[in-house]
Amino acid sequence: ISDRDGWFWLNGEFIPWREARGHLLTHTLHYGMGCFEGVRAYDGPQGTHLFRAEAHTRRLLDSAHSLDMPMEYTADALIEAQREALRRNALGDAYIKPTVFFGAEGMGLRAQGLSVNVMVPAWHLAHYISAEAADEGLRVLTSSWSRHHVNISLCRAKTNGHYVNSMLALNTAVKAGFDETLMLDPEGYVAEGSAENVFLVRDGVLHTPEVTSCLQGITRDTIIVLARERLGLTVHERRITRDELYTADEAFFTGTAAEILPIRELDGRRIGRGERPVTRELQRLYHRLVRAELEDDLKAYREWLLPVA
Ligand code: PMP
Repeated sequence: ISDRDGWFWLNGEFIPWREARGHLLTHTLHYGMGCFEGVRAYDGPQGTHLFRAEAHTRRLLDSAHSLDMPMEYTADALIEAQREALRRNALGDAYIKPTVFFGAEGMGLRAQGLSVNVMVPAWHLAHYISAEAADEGLRVLTSSWSRHHVNISLCRAKTNGHYVNSMLALNTAVKAGFDETLMLDPEGYVAEGSAENVFLVRDGVLHTPEVTSCLQGITRDTIIVLARERLGLTVHERRITRDELYTADEAFFTGTAAEILPIRELDGRRIGRGERPVTRELQRLYHRLVRAELEDDLKAYREWLLPVA
């Protein structure tokens, strides 16, 4: 991914993509202290739009603040950087990964005077797992690794170091032939996927874990709003056990990159009967919304879309 043409936003200016290099003693590489966002842009009949850029940028600023990494950029400046990164690289369907990291001014946990740097790379992205995954659903394995705990890490911050835990869990599942992993919190309740929140449907009611161990996902929020306001469904945010997922009528993951991916099977148990009316309707609404195909039913959410042009 490093060897390509294009432009790369670093600390307020664009540099050629191939020249986006840092020193090997970049502090964040050594200790994982940093934070990032994953934002998507979509091409649609009305041009390219960033989806929920404000919410993502706010979460990035909140993450940096919680980690005590003071940032000199305002939300507006960071959003403009994302738009410009898309324009300069002529991107339509794209993934943008604004990232805050410490520089290489010092080593060790007690390093002082570290610079706080920001990069905004953007590249083309179509599907997170595959084109079929959204239709066919995923085979998922519950992980033996627990997700984070509020007194071990900052669960609301999207911290680079958190993803060691995600990758341990995901890699085990993938090596065993599964598509994705489900992680439980340290008490054994359902938390989230390696990079997705999780929902279940039972008797027409949606349930999703409350935000303690899991990330406060922006797609999770979008789905809760669409389910309540467009489909008139009840949504409960509460503690969920894994047997509730085994016996759900439908279950799915949500995430910016993943979008809405059905869970077909968990730990060898088929979920539901293979018909997924609620998941399908939410997928349909979500895909129209992110591409700014806003007929009357979706006009109310226009503020979630930011034109790139
Ligand atoms: N949980 C984790 C661990 C994630 O990495 C992500 C992706 N950012 C999510 C949940 C979903 O969050 P969002 O919908 O904001 O992308």
